[in-house]
Formats: sequence, structure tokens, C-alpha cells
Amino acid sequence: MALVTCKECGAEVAGSAKTCPKCGVSYPGGAGQFILWRKTALTGEMYAVQITIDGQPAGEIKKGGSVTFDLLAGDHQVDVRGGGLSNSAVFQILDGQATRYEMHFSAFGILGGGLKLKPA
Ligand SMILES: [Zn+2]
Repeated sequence: MALVTCKECGAEVAGSAKTCPKCGVSYPGGAGQFILWRKTALTGEMYAVQITIDGQPAGEIKKGGSVTFDLLAGDHQVDVRGGGLSNSAVFQILDGQATRYEMHFSAFGILGGGLKLKPA
């Protein structure tokens, strides 16, 4: 397991630790928010989109909605799936910061449709 340096006392702790075993600070390796926003679009509006974070089911998102997740600092993967389409992205969480992504169904035209997912 990867070690991180505690932001408070400098001890080496497991990256997944929720508290530092030495000084007790919360999220010694840092934590931030991941905000996923679903743009309002007519295409695919009837489909709910299932969200998976790091392989774990994390709820669904409807058109025009947004969901916020508190995550440990570091790299994470998000998968979105709906209407028979899917997409995924690897994103980075930085301590004390919010990482924003937006998603929507693109128009089903001559170039084909898709479930778009990108930094917002
Ligand atoms: Zn510490």
C-alpha cells in the first residue's frame, strides 16, 4: 500500500488512513471533493446515469443534477453508465480542493452519440 506523509506531523502513514496514528489529524494524506454535474440536454434525458467510483457503486445522477463525493487525495476513477452507453475517467483529488467534471449525452447524429465526461 502506498504511504503518504502526514500533512500535520510528517509521519509516514497509509494513503487510505482516515486519521493519523501518530497525531490524530483527519485525512493525514489530504482529502478533497469530487463534484460531478450532469448538463441539461434533451438527448438521453430519460436515462438515469449510474455512477461508480473506484469500482464501488456510488449512486445515480439525473439531468441537471450534481453529486458531490468526499475522497482521499490522490488518483481515482469514475465510471458513468446509462442508456446503453458508458464512459470513464481518471481524476486527481488535491487536498482541500474540489475537482469538477461534467457529463451529458451528446446528440445521436451521423457521428454517433456518446456519453461525454470531461473536466468542467
Ligand atoms: Zn500526523
